Amino acid sequence: MIVMKFGGTSNRDAAAMSNVLRIISNHIQERPVVVISAIASATNELEESARTAAAGDERGACGIIDRLCDRHSAILKTLVHDEHRAGELASVFALYRAELVRLIQGVSILRELTARTRDAFCSYGERFSSRLVAAGLMERGIDAVWVDAADFMLTDGNFGRAIPVMESVRSNLARVVVPLLERSQVPVTQGFIGVTAGGVYTTMGRESSDYSASIIGAALDADRVQIWTDVDGLLTADPRKVNGVRKVRRMSFDEAFELSYFGAKVLHPRTMLPLLEKNIPVEIRNSRREDGTGTLVVRSDMIPGGPPSVKSISFSSDVTVVCVAPRGRTSQYHFWEGIFGVLSGSGIDVRSVTTSEFRIAFTVTGQFDSDAVTLRLQEFGEVFIIPDQASVCIVGSGLREHAELAGRVFRTLSGITTSMIAFGASGHSLTFVVHRSHLERSLASLHAEFFGASGPTGEFDVPLN
Ligand code: ADP
Ligand code: ASP
Ligand code: MG
Repeated sequence: MIVMKFGGTSNRDAAAMSNVLRIISNHIQERPVVVISAIASATNELEESARTAAAGDERGACGIIDRLCDRHSAILKTLVHDEHRAGELASVFALYRAELVRLIQGVSILRELTARTRDAFCSYGERFSSRLVAAGLMERGIDAVWVDAADFMLTDGNFGRAIPVMESVRSNLARVVVPLLERSQVPVTQGFIGVTAGGVYTTMGRESSDYSASIIGAALDADRVQIWTDVDGLLTADPRKVNGVRKVRRMSFDEAFELSYFGAKVLHPRTMLPLLEKNIPVEIRNSRREDGTGTLVVRSDMIPGGPPSVKSISFSSDVTVVCVAPRGRTSQYHFWEGIFGVLSGSGIDVRSVTTSEFRIAFTVTGQFDSDAVTLRLQEFGEVFIIPDQASVCIVGSGLREHAELAGRVFRTLSGITTSMIAFGASGHSLTFVVHRSHLERSLASLHAEFFGASGPTGEFDVPLN
């Protein structure tokens, strides 16, 4: 069997969703379990509705939900013509809307939005969209069954970044989903969301539907996990930022992990983890070009050895560097222990760390409360915050053994100040930080250097744009 996951970009409207239905129909022989994300921007809108409610604007929050419900109803009208089925779905949508309105009322009265409540809001995106896909498949005569992720995806209670309890997920899937597959039915479920042992909805972090697909794939021993998205596969860089990108035909789990961990949105970084041990390949495919071959992500020993090679360049454009200098020369371990204690308790997203004599510097990705973190770190030393930074990560195989790599990278970037250089820990990546205003130039120069017109062939397809 296979797992097929479709992202929000593949589900944005009725036309995109009917394309998804066609792709699923073409894979019925492979016994798919279908994992669906919320339609494009729905999760952002649900978050916005929750924030609007917390600000006390109940009407505004309801307006956002009404527009979201209308978008789903419009897709429903186009995709589902069977009167009974359409009526049933319309009632489910009315129920979801009523539940969301009750959530809005509660939040706007209390003017408090907890991570738990935010997860409750966000859970509706995937519930709406997966209902549509299941009904759309039935409309095409496919024996699809909508499965509530709450029936199998048991997680801890760490709202907003919940971790699945794999053993329970496995036994739940054996009970809930395997019998459907045995009857040749097509289970359609939600990515991103899970449930606590007490039955409360959780989410596993933004963009984590890819992770849901791989958890399900690993638990069911799938032959492979397909991630259907809006690009041809893993590319040499984000096509929204860099021209002339190429598709990478094959990448190892380790490389894909580094690429996504350092910013490539196309895969959630955790996606690879459940699949590594079982060696279940991931295919990244373009839902707008079904005939494309995509990228295959496999264990490194399944990729023919060759000279070290750069495969892709990723970036994060919203990075802050935080540097801490101890006041006295106390024990280094004591100092580091204190810093890491603050970091692990603060929930901020630390990506790379560098040290010098006693100082330590680290990068934080995304927005965070720098005043609060500074206050806590000041207990251990003097804190310097350097805002408006971006990180760049060069990913490839055998980079640690690549005698030319560092020289080529920094020669290419001559004239651009780089800092926070991290190289060697994984052997698959070299990362560094530049000022945000230098990001585009850095990416363009590095991409031209490693993948320009005379660049590599082999594992790469021809330029895409
Ligand atoms: P989905 O909605 O299918 O989950 P995402 O928007 O999360 O899709 O991820 C796909 C996007 O990831 C692409 O449109 C592309 O802009 C971005 N991306 C960033 N880096 C890469 C890369 N190296 N290869 C492919 N896509 C990338
Ligand atoms: N819908 C969720 C999000 O937008 C999960 C996902 O798309 O993977 O973050
Ligand atoms: Mg995504």
